[in-house]
This record gives sequence, structure tokens and C-alpha cells, in this order.
Amino acid sequence: MLGRLQAAGYRWVVEPEGADLVVVNTCGFLDTAREESLAVVRQMAELKRRGRLGGILVAGCMAQRDKEALIEACPEIDQVVGLFARDQIAVAARRTTAENRPSTVAERLLMADPLERAPADDCRVALVPSHVAYLKIAEGCDRLCAFCSIPMIRGRYLSKPIDQVVDEARRLADGGVRELVLIAQDTSVYGHDLADRPRLAELLGRLDRIDSLAWIRLMYLYPRRSDLDDELLDAIASSDRVLPYLDIPLQHIADEVLRRMRRGATGDETRRLIQRIRERISGVVLRTTLLVGFPGETDAQFEELLDFVRRERFDRLGAFAYRREPGTASDQLDGHLPESVKESRYDRLMETQQQIAFELAAARVGRRLDVMIDRAVAEQPGAYVGRTAADAPEVDGLVYVTGDDLRPGQIVPCEIVTTQDYDLIGVAVDRAK
Ligand code: SF4
Repeated sequence: MLGRLQAAGYRWVVEPEGADLVVVNTCGFLDTAREESLAVVRQMAELKRRGRLGGILVAGCMAQRDKEALIEACPEIDQVVGLFARDQIAVAARRTTAENRPSTVAERLLMADPLERAPADDCRVALVPSHVAYLKIAEGCDRLCAFCSIPMIRGRYLSKPIDQVVDEARRLADGGVRELVLIAQDTSVYGHDLADRPRLAELLGRLDRIDSLAWIRLMYLYPRRSDLDDELLDAIASSDRVLPYLDIPLQHIADEVLRRMRRGATGDETRRLIQRIRERISGVVLRTTLLVGFPGETDAQFEELLDFVRRERFDRLGAFAYRREPGTASDQLDGHLPESVKESRYDRLMETQQQIAFELAAARVGRRLDVMIDRAVAEQPGAYVGRTAADAPEVDGLVYVTGDDLRPGQIVPCEIVTTQDYDLIGVAVDRAK
């Protein structure tokens, strides 16, 4: 959106106050995210009422999902830009500054039909130039997970053509990106909808040849055996740049919960998949996400999940307590659990994982690990924050590094001297000598 606006002659400013226009990019996935999005829209509306802001554009998933309701809740909104109209954002921007500003609700909606092809992200503008970039390889999702509203909002799965992904990756690398994080609602089925049907393994092979990239990280792999096959695992294991770090949201392990979630795998299939990944990719770091308190989840099924977590000892684990989402299949299920049960199961799961995570972090003390420097610590000369290859940006742990003249994007060997909860404390090897 920023790229399109910039191409249309708009210039971005840091603060909304005094701007001609503000774009609020919303999330519509969960009620908490929608509340947060609406709170920001209301703040902008207040600025507009006080004459400190020109116009308000609302974009993103919530704009797609709750279009009219948004304008009803906040009449100060000038334009609601649907997901599939993203690339027409400059049209919406011009409408807010036109002499005859749109006034009716219909005039204030800029919607488009679901896309036939994945949108090209060819005019990206980085707000903060960075050595890390997310690269979306596909849009939408064809799965039917009972708890999830994403397919309803974002439509069917559309892969970006492989040449387009590789070009985009090259441009990012030429612009200084050293770590590329590949994302999609589901990265594992990349290419299945394209005429030439490239596969994720093929894409990784092409990206692996971009010399200036240091790390390529894969997020959001769906745990299906036929997608996470030996070809893909071997491509990761033999790659120079693709990290042996896999993020595979498993959601649960009890057969009956997985069935009610419509996840399409049994507990045993899931266990065998993890075993196969660990056998084929030596030293693999596994991250997963679990969902507790799904409708009908019994005490015994939750205990099975806890037992699974204790045995598998995932390197990284995130969890959610189930929340009802209108329009999803699971909202119609019986057996919804009280909030207190969901919360206490969430707490027990996180406590279990915390102990594992602390032990795994402590086991890294005394080792020499490569750390990518993310930033210098303000007003502390010689202090830096970075991550190892086992830590994805924003979601995993950090390494606090002492060193000299380090710069963001640089990868330096560090001696790990101690831990701080989930994080590590290290000294750049030159300093350690
Ligand atoms: S695979 Fe992910 S995005 Fe797709 S329906 Fe399941 S949870 Fe939602």
C-alpha cells in the first residue's frame, strides 16, 4: 500500500497528527485483534474531529470483513479499502481529498472481487530499512480448519509465480536484506495451484542461489506428510542458506480433537512426521503453535497434549486459548468450555514449555554460536541485540551481545556466557579472546 501511494505522489510522515491522510491497516482474525484495530481507528477519528488529520482510510482483513459496520461504528472513516482492492489504495486516497468527498456508505467502500492471481508485491517500500524482510509466497488458504476464519476473509490459495518470488527476493537482497522469512497462510503447499506446479523444494533451491542472502527461514508449514515429504526435507537439509528451522503449527495431538478441528492428521501421523523431520534434518529447530480449550477437549485429551509437549521438547512453542469466532465451523460445535478452564489449561501448557525452554537455553551456555546482529542498544556503546539461526524475528528469543563496531545484518560468532529467561547473553568472539 505504501508503495502504491508513493508511486501516486504521496509522501509518508511519521506522526498521524498533521497528516493529510492516515491508513489504518487492520487485522480481522480474532475479536481481540478487531478491538485493537477499532481502538486505533477511533483514535484517528478523534484527531480528525479536532481538525488535526485530513482523512482516514481503513484497510486490511477487518476492512474486508466488517466494511459497513466499521463506518457505522466510526462515521469519520472516509474510505474502507477491501483486501482485494489493496492495489487501488491511491484511488481511495484521492477520493478523500476530492472536492466532492464521498458521503454515503456505498461511496465510502472500495471493494474488489476475489483475486484470480496472487497480487504482486512489486513496489514495496520499507518503512524501516532492514536486513530482515518477510516475503509472502502465497495468499489465502484452501484448508478447512474448524476454528479459523482466514479462508472466509482472504479467499482461496493463490501462489505467486516462482519467477515473481525469486525476483522479489533478489530485489530485497540487492537492497541489503540478509534474512528472508518466507510466509503464507500455508507455505507447505506452495505452487500446487500454478500451471507449472513448482514445489516449495524447487522454490527453496532457486532462492538458495541468491548469494547475498545469509538466512532463509520458513514459517507456517502445515503438518501434512504428503507436503512435508522427503524431497522437501532433504532440500532444507542440504541447503546453504535455508535454515534447519521449521515452524509447523500442530494445534493438538489428541485424535478426537484433531478430527473436530478438521486438521486431517491423527496424533500418530503427527508424531511420525516429527520423528522423520528430526531424522532427515540434523539439528533441526522445531517451532510449533498449539490451541488449547477447543470445544469438547476433555481433561484426558489436554493431558495427552501436555505429555506430548514434555516428550517432544519443542525448541519454540506458542499457544492460544480457544476463542469463539462467528462464522467458523467450531463456533457451531457443542462442548464449549468455560473461560476459566481454557485459561488454566493455557497457563499449564506455557508453564510446562517454559521449563523446557529454559533448559534448552541453558544447554547453549558455553557454546560458540553465530549471531545475526539486529540492532545496537541505544546509549550503551558495545551492546547489541541479535538472534541465532534458531530464533525467528519477533517471535523467538534474543541474544544480548557485547562487541565492538558491529552492524545490523552482520553475523558474528559469539561465546554464550549465560541466559536470561528465554534469551542468551553472549560476547562476540573477538572480544572474548
Ligand atoms: S491452514 Fe491455517 S489459515 Fe488455513 S484454515 Fe487452517 S489455520 Fe486457517
